[in-house]
Amino acid sequence: MVNTSSYIKRIAHITIGVSDLTKSVSFFQSILGLRKMGEWPTYAIFDIVGVSFGLEPKSKTEICLLVDDVDKAYQNLRDKGVKFVTEPKDQPWGVRDAKLIDPDGNTFVIESLKCNVCGKTCQSYPELLEEHLRKHK
Ligand SMILES: [Zn+2]
Repeated sequence: MVNTSSYIKRIAHITIGVSDLTKSVSFFQSILGLRKMGEWPTYAIFDIVGVSFGLEPKSKTEICLLVDDVDKAYQNLRDKGVKFVTEPKDQPWGVRDAKLIDPDGNTFVIESLKCNVCGKTCQSYPELLEEHLRKHK
């Protein structure tokens, strides 16, 4: 039997829910001094010394786990009875992900960071955002 833990490489990022994105961006950027990597109408992402930290209005707190192949990990975990709340899906920000819940209802996301322009699998958000998505424009 394949050990699924080998699919999970590390925490890619953590997202927390906020009530006011503008206010929270200002708090984390100006007061806590985090480096902002990107901001969109419904998401903002910061870098905390190599760990990505996202803010999303009305989201639950989510821990996002990096895998190379979301579909493979999804299938394997489902076969083991893991409950998923979304199927693997390409997101407009260049990520393929699927959401699962643990026995207590905590949300985890498995995701791969694949450049949707050149197809390269990236190992971090800064790599995807800065070395791919911005350079391809
Ligand atoms: Zn690329």
